[in-house]
Amino acid sequence: MYGKYHWDGHAGCNFSCSPEEALKLNNICPVCNKKLTIGVEHRVEELADQDTNSRKNRKQFYTLLPLHELIAASMASTLTSQKTWNLYNKLIAEFGSEFNLLLNAAKEKIAKIDEKIAEVIIQNRDGRIRVKPGFDGQYGEVILQEKQTKLL
Ligand SMILES: [Zn+2]
Repeated sequence: MYGKYHWDGHAGCNFSCSPEEALKLNNICPVCNKKLTIGVEHRVEELADQDTNSRKNRKQFYTLLPLHELIAASMASTLTSQKTWNLYNKLIAEFGSEFNLLLNAAKEKIAKIDEKIAEVIIQNRDGRIRVKPGFDGQYGEVILQEKQTKLL
């Protein structure tokens, strides 16, 4: 959920913000005073709040990140690297499906294959991973414990 057009913003102005902030700015870029490129989150915001139980007390929109993005972030690697996909395939072979791994698999079992990714998957499950969403053609970034990892 954090592709290139998730948040609102201007790539040229290196400015991005949440839909909330954009509304406060009347969708006008504070750098160049032109209309912001409106992101996906702005458009789907109203649909996002269906599962209120798991989003309780969580102001920011939260979604489970896909496995290959977690792997790339945990290895400080990229979405397209062989390293990322080697681990991806290994994990899928062991746990059957991405959803089973992301939602159900026990941490100790995942850790037998890779300790770092086990930790990240649990953080993902708990909604503890921070994401700086992409905007206006710039890719988003996963933020693991204050360390930012560019995905591409
Ligand atoms: Zn601008």
